[in-house]
Amino acid sequence: MVSEDRLVQTFLELVHIDSPSEHEEAIGSDLADRLAALGVTVERDASGNVFGRLRGDEASDDWLLLAAHMDTVGEDRGITPVIRDGVIYSDGTTILGGDDKSGIAVILEVLQVQQEQQLPHRHREVIFTVEEELNLGRKGRIDMSRVRSRQGIVLDSGGPQGAYVFSAPSQDKLVVTVHGRAAHAGSEPEKGINAIRVAAEAIAAMPMGRIDEETVANIGVIRGGTVTNIVPDNVFIKGMARSRSEDKLRRQMEAMVRELEDAAARHGATLDVLVERAYHGYRLEEDAPIRHLVETAMRKRGLDPLPAASGGGSDANIFNRAGIESVPLSTGMSAVHTKDEHIAIADMVGCAELLLAIVQQ
Ligand SMILES: [Zn+2]
Repeated sequence: MVSEDRLVQTFLELVHIDSPSEHEEAIGSDLADRLAALGVTVERDASGNVFGRLRGDEASDDWLLLAAHMDTVGEDRGITPVIRDGVIYSDGTTILGGDDKSGIAVILEVLQVQQEQQLPHRHREVIFTVEEELNLGRKGRIDMSRVRSRQGIVLDSGGPQGAYVFSAPSQDKLVVTVHGRAAHAGSEPEKGINAIRVAAEAIAAMPMGRIDEETVANIGVIRGGTVTNIVPDNVFIKGMARSRSEDKLRRQMEAMVRELEDAAARHGATLDVLVERAYHGYRLEEDAPIRHLVETAMRKRGLDPLPAASGGGSDANIFNRAGIESVPLSTGMSAVHTKDEHIAIADMVGCAELLLAIVQQ
């Protein structure tokens, strides 16, 4: 019932529409048109997210949300997909953008099959989101007041067929300015406080990288100084920590801030420190209805459910936080965020068949 040719065609068409984060206008209007052609009622919110609503046969007000993000990571444009041995790649100069256009193509294919076959189904909501790769936790990024569903499937994950994410971390971001004191580095360096030195000592002492099985931390941005003969008085640092344990996340952030405070105190520097929740994690226990829904459909299709705990956030974090019990499902996307990104056509077709089975339960 799922048409492999049509699914691949849709996917390739979407890949050809450039959509780096914050540049989703073209793909947004393309998708609004595609949804409208499938009989879906379409709205856009102020951020540019595309919302679709399609009533099913149920009398109850029981909606299922299907979601994917429209933006692709980084700045790549002019993506040229290449098919080799049943696998879709880029031409090697860019990402492919299967993250997350595979998810969008799968949702469109499922809606198309249901329309053609006049199959019985639940009420469905669709969201195609903006800026997922760049500003996942930005307040007001998605106007959640428009959403009626209490359950959602987010088509935005990798792994074999049957893989889905039952737990994802919270992320806190760390934004710091180290204030030292400028001085002539040749004639009176002793009058200066070197902010680069302070930042370097602090960062070198921080626990970083893989902290434990469910906790990571990173300093990703550092900027400071102007010329070599001035003791630098300012350094800007940005970092983050993530954990699936709130307690570990708090302790990790405290450890990072403590190193900054200690280094600043040793040198007489001052700090502006902002620690802010970027997004909240979630954990869906085994008896969660959404897990039952996807696992039942998987077993019917002869797939072993592969629940995974993820190290990354997705729109499912946002939806779960808003009370919409949601899991990301694998579309088969692989090596995402790299030039080697690819997706096997068979996996994308399998994902569409699985989603169809989920929606029809
Ligand atoms: Zn993604």
